[in-house]
Amino acid sequence: MKTILLAVCGLSPQVITETLFALHQQGPQIDAIRVLTTRAGKDACLAGLFRAGDGHYYRYLDEYGLPRDAIDFAPRHLLAVLADDGTEIDDIADEYHSERFLRLCMEETFALARDDEQCVLFSIAGGRKTMGACLSLAAQCYARPQDRIYHVLVQPSEFENCRDFYYPPRTPRTIEVLNRERRPCHMSTAEAQITLVPMPFFPLRRQLTPRMLRRPESPAALMLSLVREDKPQLLIDLPQKKIVWKGVECDLTPSLLALYAVLALHKQEAACAKSPCLNCGDCALSVDQILAKQADITRLYQRLTTREAVKSGATALDEEHVGQYRSKINRLIAGTFGDHEARALRVGSRGARPVRYAIGVARELIRVVL
Ligand SMILES: [Zn+2]
Repeated sequence: MKTILLAVCGLSPQVITETLFALHQQGPQIDAIRVLTTRAGKDACLAGLFRAGDGHYYRYLDEYGLPRDAIDFAPRHLLAVLADDGTEIDDIADEYHSERFLRLCMEETFALARDDEQCVLFSIAGGRKTMGACLSLAAQCYARPQDRIYHVLVQPSEFENCRDFYYPPRTPRTIEVLNRERRPCHMSTAEAQITLVPMPFFPLRRQLTPRMLRRPESPAALMLSLVREDKPQLLIDLPQKKIVWKGVECDLTPSLLALYAVLALHKQEAACAKSPCLNCGDCALSVDQILAKQADITRLYQRLTTREAVKSGATALDEEHVGQYRSKINRLIAGTFGDHEARALRVGSRGARPVRYAIGVARELIRVVL
């Protein structure tokens, strides 16, 4: 069985050698390392770990008598998170970045955990806290019984914050560190302790159907696939400004909710015998037909907002607004319920000239609370 270390890392590449050292102390042989990071983190790893064949990763291998090819780990295994346009994201600074990072964690974890001859050790110690949380979530979804999630503790804290400390060398050395008052002082590396803390995880994977294990899904999609309701209900709760599906709630702003509710009410009332119906001419509305329902949309919108006489897009819709609102609704729905469930819940489109829009859920499953 091969053992792979999958770690998150930010601007402190020390965490990689520290984790490797701690694992080796415990015994397991590591066959490969993969690092999930940002553009800036990748640069920090290249400089700290690999730098011209003399980085601290190589020094660690040399010091502990391991051949340089003992572990399958090279600069190409530093995976920086990508934006939609394919550029590497600098730092996890907002919700979108975090979403992309979670996706990367899900994809890598899915791919590595596919091979039954491999055991994956997840290290969630590096990077921003959100990065560790993302990898931990991915592990909860896909880890098998043989896999492990670890947090890594470096003590005393002087070593944790030290740029020059990558692992305890065989022969202790005295290095300069910053003490608690942030003043430089000298300490022997013999005092450094690196502890691996195994974290428990829920074996969610065992509950997943083969269909949900075909490709990487979002955690939301995996969770919802476990809810097996014969007749789930799409509850559109206007007073609470949210939609609810299989026990999961998604908040929508008044403008988005007004449009969504009008589409739902139309579908409910459509004279269509098919169920489920994938957007026939009766269930679905063209943009012109949506615009013709402006009075209904305005009425719902005004019930949802207390701001009087505020001119909102929702009270004077045009074709552009409808397109923007639709993509916002669909993005929120996919983010909350996962791509899999979103296919039924989102505002889908069908046909051409004119394109028609409708919610995919069967009409008898829709309930609107006004
Ligand atoms: Zn229909």
